[in-house]
Amino acid sequence: MRTVAVIGAGISGLAAAYHIKKLARERGAEISLIVFERGATAGGKIVTDKVNGFVIDAGPDSVVAERQKFEEFCGELGIGRDLIEPKAGSEGVSVLLDGKLERLPDGMRLMLPAKLAPLLSTGMISPLGKARAAMEVLVPKKSGDSDEDAASFVCRRFGREVYDRMAEPLLAGIHAGDPGHTSLRCAFPVLEEIERKHRSLILASRAKETAAHKKDVRFESFANGMAELTSALSAAVGLENIRLGKNVRRIARAETSMPKYLVEIDGDAPVLADAVVFATQAYEAGKIIEAFDKGVAALLGGIKYVPLITVSLAYRSAGVSDKMTGSGFLVPHREGRLLSAVTWSSSKWNRRAPEGYDLVRCYFNGAYSNDAFALDDDALISAAQVELKEAALITGKPLFGVVHRWDMGMPQYTVGHRERLDDLRRRLEGYSGIFMTGAWSNGVGIASCISNSEAVAQKVISYISGI
Ligand SMILES: Cc1cc2nc3c(=O)[nH]c(=O)nc-3n(C[C@H](O)[C@H](O)[C@H](O)COP(=O)(O)OP(=O)(O)OC[C@H]3O[C@@H](n4cnc5c(N)ncnc54)[C@H](O)[C@@H]3O)c2cc1C
Repeated sequence: MRTVAVIGAGISGLAAAYHIKKLARERGAEISLIVFERGATAGGKIVTDKVNGFVIDAGPDSVVAERQKFEEFCGELGIGRDLIEPKAGSEGVSVLLDGKLERLPDGMRLMLPAKLAPLLSTGMISPLGKARAAMEVLVPKKSGDSDEDAASFVCRRFGREVYDRMAEPLLAGIHAGDPGHTSLRCAFPVLEEIERKHRSLILASRAKETAAHKKDVRFESFANGMAELTSALSAAVGLENIRLGKNVRRIARAETSMPKYLVEIDGDAPVLADAVVFATQAYEAGKIIEAFDKGVAALLGGIKYVPLITVSLAYRSAGVSDKMTGSGFLVPHREGRLLSAVTWSSSKWNRRAPEGYDLVRCYFNGAYSNDAFALDDDALISAAQVELKEAALITGKPLFGVVHRWDMGMPQYTVGHRERLDDLRRRLEGYSGIFMTGAWSNGVGIASCISNSEAVAQKVISYISGI
C-alpha cells in the first residue's frame, strides 16, 4: 500500500486526487490517498454563496472548455445534467470607451479581430486605427525565439489603437494582469503559435486553420453555481480522504531506504508519504518546500499574484434588465476607472436570481493599481453602483451587495515564465516522488487546471507503480 499526499483542495488538488484514485483503481494499484486542505471547505477559489435566493459565485463563474471533454468529465462526476450554457441572447460583450458602451465587433477570435469587415465598420476605432489594423495581413513574423509581452504583440501586429480600445481589456481580464508584463508564450500560446505557423492572424482565421476553429470550445457553468463542480469532485475523491482545516507546514525527507516524505501538519502527527502532490498557490508551495530546497522555494515565491475583488449586486429587475444587453462589459485601463469588468450574471446564466430580480457582478482587479483594495466593503459597493450608473445607466439602488476579496487572486505569467517553469522542473527532477500542479503552472482557467492535474496524476501512478 503506497501513500499519496495531495496538498491543497482547490480545483487542481481535487482533480489530481480524483484522477489518482481513478487510475489506481483501473490499474489495480493499492493506494492510501490523503488530501490536506487548510481551509474549512474544499474548492479553493471556487466558492458559491446562496443569499436570499440568489446564486453568487465569489470566484470563477464559468468554465471555458472543450465541450465534449468537459461534458464527459462532468458526466463521470454525476453532474452532467446540471451543466448550463449562457442564455440565448446573451452573446456579445461591450467595452466602455470614452464613458459610453460600445459593442465589440463580431469576429473577435482569440481576443483579437479575426475578420476584417466587422473591424472596418466598428465605431470603436478611428479610420487611421482601422487602416493600421488592416495592415496586419502584411506585418512580418517576429524574428527570433524570445518571449514577448502580450501588449507588444498586439501593438506590433494591429497597432496601438486596437490594443488600447479592444485588446487590452480582454487580455487584462483573463489573467487580471497588465498585458504589458504578461508572457504571450505562456498566457496566450495560441496567438504565438498562429503567428509562427501562419504569420497573419487575420489570414489564418480566414483559412479556418486555427486551433479554435477545430475545437468546440464553450462557456459552461452549473445550475447551482460553480461549487457544484468541487462538491462533486470532493464526493468522488471521498470525503473521508479530505482532511479539512489542516495546514501543511513543511515537508521533510524521511530516513527510509526508499524515498519517502514526512508531511508536517500544524497540530497533528506527521504523515509518511511515498508521493507528495503540491496543489497550492505557488508562494504557499514555496513556503512548504523552503527548508527542503531553497532554490525551488525562491522560484515558486517569485511568481507574482495580483489581487481581485468581486462585488455582486442584487437588484429588482424594473429599470435594470433592459440595460443588461449581452453578457456584460469591459473597462479599458485608459478609462481611468476603478471597475475593470461587469458580468450581467442573471442575463447570462439561468437561476442566478429569483423571478423579478437581477444579479450583476462587478470586478475590480489589481492589474494596474490597488486603489480599490483600500476601500471597505460599503465603499466598494458604492463605487460599483456609481460606475454602473455612469456606464450602463443603472440608476436603481441594489437590494444588497456581496463583496469577495481575493488578496492573492491570480498568478501572473510574466515574461520569462516558461524559463522559470523549466528551471523548476529541472530542479524537481532530483526528487523522486514530488509533483506539482496549480493555476500558476500551465493555465489559470479551470479546464487547464483539470487537464494539468490529470497529467500529473498519470505521472504519480507511473511513479508509485514502479517503486
Ligand atoms: C475572482 C476570480 C474569478 C475567476 N474567474 C474564472 C472563470 O470565470 N473561469 C475560469 O476558468 N477561471 C477563473 N478564475 C481562475 C480560477 O478560478 C483559478 O485559477 C483556479 O480556481 C485555481 O485553482 P487551484 O486549485 O490551482 O488553486 P486554489 O483555488 O488557490 O487552491 C489552492 C488550495 O490550496 C490550499 N492551501 C494553500 N496552502 C496550503 C497549506 N499549506 N496546507 C494545506 N492547504 C493549503 C488553499 O487553501 C486552497 O484551497 C478566476 C479566479 C478568480 C480569483
